[in-house]
Amino acid sequence: MTTPIGEGTTTVAPELPHRVLVLNSGSSSVKYQLLDMRDRSRLAVGLVERIGEETSRLTHTLLEGGGAEPRERTGRIADHEEALKAAAEELAADGLGLDSPELAAIGHRVVHGGLRFTEPTVITDEVLAEIERLVPVAPLHNPANITGIRTAQALRPDLPQVAVFDTAFHTTMPESAARYAIDIETADAHRIRRYGFHGTSHAYVSRRTAELLGRPREELSLVVLHLGNGASASAVAGGRCVDTSMGLTPLEGLVMGTRSGDIDPAVTFHLMRVAGMSADEIDVLLNKKSGLVGLCGDNDMREIRRRVDEGDERAALAFDIYIHRLKKYIGAYSAVLGRVDAVVFTAGVGENSAPVREAAIAGLEELGLAVDADLNAVRSGEPRLISPNYARVAVAVVPTDEELEIAGQTFALVGQVDN
Ligand code: AMP
Repeated sequence: MTTPIGEGTTTVAPELPHRVLVLNSGSSSVKYQLLDMRDRSRLAVGLVERIGEETSRLTHTLLEGGGAEPRERTGRIADHEEALKAAAEELAADGLGLDSPELAAIGHRVVHGGLRFTEPTVITDEVLAEIERLVPVAPLHNPANITGIRTAQALRPDLPQVAVFDTAFHTTMPESAARYAIDIETADAHRIRRYGFHGTSHAYVSRRTAELLGRPREELSLVVLHLGNGASASAVAGGRCVDTSMGLTPLEGLVMGTRSGDIDPAVTFHLMRVAGMSADEIDVLLNKKSGLVGLCGDNDMREIRRRVDEGDERAALAFDIYIHRLKKYIGAYSAVLGRVDAVVFTAGVGENSAPVREAAIAGLEELGLAVDADLNAVRSGEPRLISPNYARVAVAVVPTDEELEIAGQTFALVGQVDN
């Protein structure tokens, strides 16, 4: 019997391959996790950082059998191939090598799947070529994902490799939400539309929320707030995304750690004309030097709250702008959905910052929303409700787990499951 991830235990015949390696390849980093899909436990996790620099670092942690202290390697790791080989050596040292017959597949996080990829997909040459064709709309992300896939294929050419796309969950958005109101021929010629990102997280969290509420997700209307260093909101009706705050790129929408989120597009050509900035300079300004860091110099919400509590005005202004935008999206998505069953907080800020949750929901009683101060103060890694019993709409904190979702989707596609 197969069971969707997060809903009980998957039964796999013991002799069949049951491990999945999840790879998340960034421009200068590779994150990896090896999972046992029989009980969805993590066997080992690791991170290779600063690839290509003299100060590269690999941190590897064995978690199986009670775990072990993290191991570290430092010194130049030239490229993704070396990074993955180093990771494979660390796994092999723990008896979890990539040559193991227990490995069923490698699941890759791929940021942009365009309109073509609406589901996790086994990677063929043709699929890889299509991911390459999407590089112009995801220049920062897809090239690194492609390098990760190629390297993994070279290491285990016989093994199924699966791409799980950040955009896939959002492909159900109606045209009214997905299209920008610009000249339609220009938009289509350059594939300009709203794709949305963090889809793996929004999908996982919506399903876990349905479990928390004990109701079928087909019945539920949810506003999901993924608040990490990158941040996005989505409106989910009956388990399908109907709107999301990120657009052509992950720059649109909420105020983020270093990204501006929504601005008047005229700001860009104003900066070109008046400040003489180039397109690349404005790209860096809006993606790396804006958001919380641009407003107050810090992008870590813990530090910002500490400064707010000390009376720092810049930090207070940054916090207020962050919350104002969040409220706007909660209101907008309540209107898009018509009826909301739950507002759900997830990711680094959403899971950990009680002040952000309190401030975002404050004053929304007319929308049926309220937060119970005691429940909101509880720190826990478990999905939980933080709204009072009387509230018409549930407010929940549901920790996200993108790696588990990628592993689950990968295994569901290729795993030889005992029926
Ligand atoms: P993520 O991108 O989901 O890993 O989230 C990272 C962000 O979560 C950090 O930049 C912090 O702003 C925030 N964060 C992590 N831990 C806490 C915490 N205990 N309290 C408030 N914010 C936190």
